[in-house]
Amino acid sequence: MNLYDLLASRFPTDRTAPCFLLPDGGAISYGTLELCAGRLARLLARRGVGVGDRVVVQTAKSPEAVMLYLATLKIGAVFTPLNTAYTEAEVAYFLEDAEPALVVRDAVALAAEAAGLEPLTEVTPRDDGDLASLIYTSGTTGRSKGAMLTHGALAANAQALHQAWGFTPDDVLLHALPIFHVHGLFVALHCAFLSGAPMVWLDKYEDGPVLAGLARSTVMMGVPTFYTRLLANPGFTRQSAAHMRVFICGSAPLLESTFREFEARAGQRILERYGMSEAVIITSNPLDGERVAGSVGFPLPGVELRIDTGGGETGVLQIRGPSVFQGYWRMPEKTAEEFTADGFFITADGFFITGDVGRQDTDGRVWISGRAKDLIICGGYNVYPKEIELVLDELAGVTESAVIGLPHPDFGEAVAAVIIGTGSEAAIVAAARERLAAFKAPKRVFFVDELPRNAMGKVQKNLLRETYAGAFTPP
Ligand code: AMP
Repeated sequence: MNLYDLLASRFPTDRTAPCFLLPDGGAISYGTLELCAGRLARLLARRGVGVGDRVVVQTAKSPEAVMLYLATLKIGAVFTPLNTAYTEAEVAYFLEDAEPALVVRDAVALAAEAAGLEPLTEVTPRDDGDLASLIYTSGTTGRSKGAMLTHGALAANAQALHQAWGFTPDDVLLHALPIFHVHGLFVALHCAFLSGAPMVWLDKYEDGPVLAGLARSTVMMGVPTFYTRLLANPGFTRQSAAHMRVFICGSAPLLESTFREFEARAGQRILERYGMSEAVIITSNPLDGERVAGSVGFPLPGVELRIDTGGGETGVLQIRGPSVFQGYWRMPEKTAEEFTADGFFITADGFFITGDVGRQDTDGRVWISGRAKDLIICGGYNVYPKEIELVLDELAGVTESAVIGLPHPDFGEAVAAVIIGTGSEAAIVAAARERLAAFKAPKRVFFVDELPRNAMGKVQKNLLRETYAGAFTPP
């Protein structure tokens, strides 16, 4: 079934019911969402976008961007969102790789253009195995990979989460996440749509609007940074959380201290879950039942999870299930490497090797201890050191660089670079900012004569992390 049909089948019967509750007090109804998605679908079709064609979207967060997402599904095209922070040079790679039929940089303008069109009512039939979305993840080689998510995978995960988190039409979801990432795009939107529930719609996390939004919401989904910011705000009290049904958190590790402090302040335990672009949500703490600090909970129904411990306690998590992606776009070899060869056909039978290291206790709870690779997660966004190193190494005066993530009180981790070379910290930071999205550019640069290496010549980043551990966190 086309995912659009599943979502639209749950829109409220009374289409005048609100979908987006806007900061100015206005609202956009489910009827308008449906109508505008139909008009945009007509416009896309007129522009020659066909079944299986990629629609690359790098646009500010807006209801129109959501309408465009639904329009793309409706005509059987492939929604391909890009982080709005990407620079032109970065976007050029995605365009070359995705070969889109259409690139949208301004969803509001596109919706205005579609305003007079007859809405397209037909929904292009799609099978579970057909591609719905291409989500670019970062790559250790510096190249982003497009995770291919199907209609079936997204539908399965949406239904599992809707059930696990007990969504009903009485819910109001506070939506302050970006919608170019699986968290804000699939996890949040699909839970709201499957309930026909409204969303308090905020462009981004800001203390004032989020606090005001909590007063009329029942569920919030956030990254750990949202929670640390709420706790840093004295205006956030038990009263602020009084009619919230559940606070959900993921995309990066939630510190146990944040979990505990939140419980003490708000009187509620944050529900932490774990997921990734390649499989949407994999595990979740229970809605009813104990939510444990530091654990990401249990595999969702239908998810098989096993750990390649090699006899020890922890190891790399491997998963199989209906929401796991089909593979990396136009990278069959990379895909084959990241699935186990359990079966004849990789995506049907093999397990996906997540790259996350963790353990499962006797109750079945999963604990993530770290990342196998040196992924940095800054404010919920993945940064692969290699990509940054390649940029830094091109700069005048830089001989070699090693990029690491260091604990940061606001972002969880922040990017820092250790450099062999000459120049000033400020100049290197500025040069990196010209070439990279702000969240990827190093916030600190340290100069050294030599990088620590192991016997195999590999830079020992763990030693660098120890040396500079306190760079962003005053003792
Ligand atoms: P992304 O593909 O951008 O969603 O990033 C996925 C990665 O984020 C995962 O592979 C994990 O390393 C990390 N991650 C997501 N949720 C959690 C969590 N609750 N705890 C720890 N790490 C997480």
